[in-house]
Amino acid sequence: MSNKVRSLIIGSGPAGYTAAIYASRANLEPVLYEGMEPGGQLTTTTEVENFPGYPDGITGPELMEDLKKQAQRFGTDVRSGRATAVDFSVRPFKVTIDNDQVIEADTVIISTGATAKYLGLKDEAKYAGQGVSACATCDGFFYRKKKVAVVGGGDTACEEATYLSGLADKVYLIVRKPYLRASQIMQERVMNNPKIEILFEHNAVGLFGEKGVEGVHLIKRMGEPDEEKLDIAVDGFFLAIGHKPNTEIFKDFIELDDVGYIRTESPYTKTNVEGVFACGDVADPIYRQAVTAAGTGCRAAMDAERYLTEKGL
Ligand code: NDP
Repeated sequence: MSNKVRSLIIGSGPAGYTAAIYASRANLEPVLYEGMEPGGQLTTTTEVENFPGYPDGITGPELMEDLKKQAQRFGTDVRSGRATAVDFSVRPFKVTIDNDQVIEADTVIISTGATAKYLGLKDEAKYAGQGVSACATCDGFFYRKKKVAVVGGGDTACEEATYLSGLADKVYLIVRKPYLRASQIMQERVMNNPKIEILFEHNAVGLFGEKGVEGVHLIKRMGEPDEEKLDIAVDGFFLAIGHKPNTEIFKDFIELDDVGYIRTESPYTKTNVEGVFACGDVADPIYRQAVTAAGTGCRAAMDAERYLTEKGL
């Protein structure tokens, strides 16, 4: 197993594997480290119906297994292990795996993704895949003509509530403050939507249901003298309280935005460090879809290939 590679890919979601497919077909002999959650966020979803090419849908884990096989077929060296530190101030770059082994790389493609934030309720884990979701675009379709709740008061929550209102009969927007944080236009959109009911100053504290989510336990004005407990009946519970991009180990070298997403030089995947590229959700606060991640993975591999050729590496 070589510790000096031409192209190192960190992360194994749709962006990482697509980068690997393109990089291996371009003879960059990529090594891909799978990270903490091999296959990425899609392994936690059930059916994926919006990835082009699968007219009957495919499960998230199967899709990721297919992408992995496709990358390996062209020679990608897929290794288990997590990048725990990087040094982008030296050439070749140094990336430490599992706090132990150091890999040297001429180019690095970062595709470490983002993690949806959850409230931290035990019931979120209990009902995972049974009514709890952090992606309306992925799972909303399963709630046609049903009742759903969305937690959050930012642009994502308003966007998800609006999207779900096109499918579900009723959407509750659960907001912990007495106002929305979202942009004016999004606020107006949810407030003028007859299918959306905004529950201001409500906190979700638990879920209930026999075979899946059947409702949410709420507390209105939690912690105040007039606090009130109530339940609402819903079939789906969507979290939209933000995402955390997985960029902690890069922050000393790579330019990030205020939330922690990697800034890239659009339309390229170049970061501020020449030779380091970023693709997928780690650099995308807006779209966050498997297919958009795959698209930027392709771009990152092509950018890396051009960089290696220019530098004669
Ligand atoms: P934000 O951080 O903007 O909003 C998060 C929301 O979740 C807030 O209302 C926050 O409440 C609430 N929240 C956080 N933690 C909890 C909790 N524990 N319990 C209950 N509620 C909680 O995240 P978004 O994902 O909405 O947006 C991220 C960025 O992406 C923003 O800059 C946004 O503008 C941008 N964006 C832009 C879009 C577009 O332009 N089309 C679409 C989507 C996002 P509180 O206000 O009380 O803190």
